[in-house]
Amino acid sequence: MSNFDLVVIGSGPAGRRAAIQAAKLGRSVLVVESRLRVGGVSVHTGTIPSKTLRETVLNLSGWRERGFYGMSYRVKKDIEGKDLGARLNKTLDYEIEVLEHQFARNGVETLAGAARFTDPHTLEVGQPDGEAVVVRGDRFVIAVGTSPHRPPHIPFDGVKVVDSDDLVSQTRVPRSMTVIGAGVIGIEYATIFSALDVPVTVVEPREGFLEFVDREILGEFVHELRKRGMSLRLGASLERVEWSENGDPIAILNDGRQIRSDMLLYAAGRVGATATLGLENCGLTADKRGRLKVDPITCQTEVAHIYAAGDVIGFPSLASTSMEQGRIAACHAFDAPMPPPPAFFPYGIYAVPEISTVGLTEEEVKQRKIPYECGIARFRETSRGHIMGLQSGMMKLIFGLEDRRLLGVHIVGEGATELVHIGQAVLNLGGTLDYFVENTFNYPTLAEAYKIAALDAFNRMPARPIAPVAVKRPAADAAE
Ligand SMILES: Cc1cc2nc3c(=O)[nH]c(=O)nc-3n(C[C@H](O)[C@H](O)[C@H](O)COP(=O)(O)OP(=O)(O)OC[C@H]3O[C@@H](n4cnc5c(N)ncnc54)[C@H](O)[C@@H]3O)c2cc1C
Repeated sequence: MSNFDLVVIGSGPAGRRAAIQAAKLGRSVLVVESRLRVGGVSVHTGTIPSKTLRETVLNLSGWRERGFYGMSYRVKKDIEGKDLGARLNKTLDYEIEVLEHQFARNGVETLAGAARFTDPHTLEVGQPDGEAVVVRGDRFVIAVGTSPHRPPHIPFDGVKVVDSDDLVSQTRVPRSMTVIGAGVIGIEYATIFSALDVPVTVVEPREGFLEFVDREILGEFVHELRKRGMSLRLGASLERVEWSENGDPIAILNDGRQIRSDMLLYAAGRVGATATLGLENCGLTADKRGRLKVDPITCQTEVAHIYAAGDVIGFPSLASTSMEQGRIAACHAFDAPMPPPPAFFPYGIYAVPEISTVGLTEEEVKQRKIPYECGIARFRETSRGHIMGLQSGMMKLIFGLEDRRLLGVHIVGEGATELVHIGQAVLNLGGTLDYFVENTFNYPTLAEAYKIAALDAFNRMPARPIAPVAVKRPAADAAE
């Protein structure tokens, strides 16, 4: 039986970063992973596969060129499942290799098998051959992530009725698709398949969706989706699935409507993968969605030597933030200094078109009663946008009227998830409208939209700064 300074359960972004950080602090580290290869949901069924699929679809469909050559333009005429899979396999192999090398280079040991606590310092790891290995740790990071929520009344068969994990191993492009759930995952897949000209219907029980996105940006996004024929059924929920005479799933909604399609993607939530972890043997309990509670600053659970990080602790459930939580957990566990986290982190929604956002939305600015002004730039106003043939895409910047500070950056359209980082830097460094007005941007670029939007806001601002009022500033909020 081996003993390690740190045992990490799960090798996704959170576990990986915790392990590497602890190894860099000179600690002995073991990562236990129930899949045969490392990488987690992020690499095997989540972030990387979905983004690779998106890139493949945009390239093969010629989506980015249609502004010039028309909606019937295609790079490849008949796109099949195997076309989508080819790029995916290469990308995944490469990603996994990089991770394995990173572990080896930093002296992190790995063990394949499903971990289960037998006491607060001991794990039993069930091996693929049925044997069990026992390992002990001084400290633990639980980074087991989540798995798709699969209600028992939904007849998942992995082919016609699938969850988001099944979807990445599909070897066919469906003729039509119903997506249940308008969360980030549902919307990403719905728009990716819609870009392949697959008729898609999205069903969502709430009247709205992507609530954390600025309303004006969301309005623009929804307009784009409706323009290309995507159907959004908001305020309706899936009651059951029946089968047509030729074996197609029919979604029966609570308002009596029926949607028949070639494939039904159930993407309504994920649950923490804690059911078989033996939490009862280490003094922890999960909530009803399998999630663990931690101190949000340190990622420490109620049991002092056990930390949890990544999707298993809930919002925001992003690969980017999971990595940061893993690093924080390892630093705190071994008393290493931790710089305070930045006030704002970005969200990226890799739909078609993509959305990215950092800072306060207009709704949040209003709620906090901060006097503000907005500036808008359309991508078609930039020369780069003309060259690329962009018909849509928009950036919205929000500035405080008192001090001209940037409060929020909201982008929908080509390159949004990359462009947002310029705004993120200015925002987290406390920059103002003047940064965008006074600085030179490469020409022609989409980044020029920052200057256009800033000038738009500037033109609407009162000539003189208005008198300061007592309001909560974002930086002050972060320090609380
Ligand atoms: C379809 C999809 C698209 C996404 N797109 C994005 C995106 O574009 N950008 C973004 O930032 N995020 C995205 N995410 C979210 C991102 O994948 C997660 O935030 C991230 O993977 C969470 O990392 P993690 O380390 O918490 O766990 P995971 O990546 O979920 O990894 C957990 C690992 O723990 C292992 N494990 C579980 N139980 C045990 C056990 N008992 N013993 C041993 N090992 C165990 C699992 O096998 C798994 O490999 C997406 C997710 C999905 C599903």
